[in-house]
Amino acid sequence: MNMNRTGPIGRTAVFLIACGIFASLAAAQTYDVVIQNGHVLDPRNGIDAVMDVAIENGVIAAVETEIAASLGETVVDASGLYVTPGLVDLHTHVFFGTEPDAAYSNGYNALPPDGFTFRAGVTTVVDLGDAGWRNFSQFKEQVIDRSRTRVLAFLNIVGSGMKGGPIEQNLADMDPKLTAMRAAEFPEVVVGIKVAHYQGEEWDPVDRAVEAGRIADLPVAVDFGGHIPPLSLEELFMTHLRSGDILTHAFANVSGRIAIVDDAGTLRPFVPRARERGIVFDVGHGAGSFRFNQAVPAMQQGFAPDTISTDLHRASMNAGMKDMLNVMSKFLNLGMPLPDVIEASTWRPARTIKRDDIGHLSVGAEADLTVLRVREGTFGFVDVAGGKLLGSQKLECELTMRAGEVVWDLNGISRAAWNVSP
Ligand SMILES: [Zn+2]
Repeated sequence: MNMNRTGPIGRTAVFLIACGIFASLAAAQTYDVVIQNGHVLDPRNGIDAVMDVAIENGVIAAVETEIAASLGETVVDASGLYVTPGLVDLHTHVFFGTEPDAAYSNGYNALPPDGFTFRAGVTTVVDLGDAGWRNFSQFKEQVIDRSRTRVLAFLNIVGSGMKGGPIEQNLADMDPKLTAMRAAEFPEVVVGIKVAHYQGEEWDPVDRAVEAGRIADLPVAVDFGGHIPPLSLEELFMTHLRSGDILTHAFANVSGRIAIVDDAGTLRPFVPRARERGIVFDVGHGAGSFRFNQAVPAMQQGFAPDTISTDLHRASMNAGMKDMLNVMSKFLNLGMPLPDVIEASTWRPARTIKRDDIGHLSVGAEADLTVLRVREGTFGFVDVAGGKLLGSQKLECELTMRAGEVVWDLNGISRAAWNVSP
């Protein structure tokens, strides 16, 4: 059989036709993905309107009132849905590992991020102090460099990190200089300093964390809660912390820490004053740190959180916390407008950690975004004491993109039907 039956001229013609087809396809499909008809909420850029979003080469290429479907290789119809920046969860524990008795620092209490992030619209997690200067390199090698989720970190002021027990009570292992040195080694991923769990009567752990933050020019996050009798929360805000430092577990009501709402249900007057001074109030829900008897009166008195976060770990994920969208839904049902809920879960946490490159949909930004549905119905939300609040709205994640890749697609809205050829 003659394989060259068509001859050289015939093969050239076929080649030219093929080139023509590819050329016209390339001209038509300017973008990798076009998301149409979604209600875009992008607080940093002041966008709260139905817009189309185009993505090309992993970055946001256009946000316009109309981008033709023919310009997208993949087209997503987001009618009736919200398109927001990828969520930034400011308080998580993701230094998972198998070291015995290591708690959240290469231990069993921390979780691998990718299993819990994309399905809840989260594209960036901030690990809040699992590693200290001694074991940060292991955390980076083991988790940060291997996760599709963007993982940023606060270094624990304790050099050995959040290993629990006496290790976290060891003042001799809290070195501001060495902590700041390690932070300076990894400026692309270390975004703050954490102090937590100290039970003594001294202010030294807080002051050393602030000193490390001062040297490294990074914010400090405080989990204030183990002091019996409690140290003064007002003194923490007004004397020890700086503008831009963070109180996490803002709506906790635990022995060992003064609550922001007193027993009569009144927001303590120094709390709004602390906010005026620049203290950031973060939710950090967790398994023991979010009570409706704090959040409901605080919201009624006009005190919404600055940043919404989960305190994701093994004990919180199957209890009242569940995931980022469940925590956001609680505030939506407590009267926080959806654009404010989105801002507290995207641009505000990004700004808090001085990462202006994330938490928004500006043209040129890495394309981290999420497509959300607001479900209407009757939903129950539970706090850490087991108290239930009924609500009428619940956020659900339809689609998550990380750096332009679809990493979660609940109902296949980015896919063609199975019997249509790709
Ligand atoms: Zn935590």
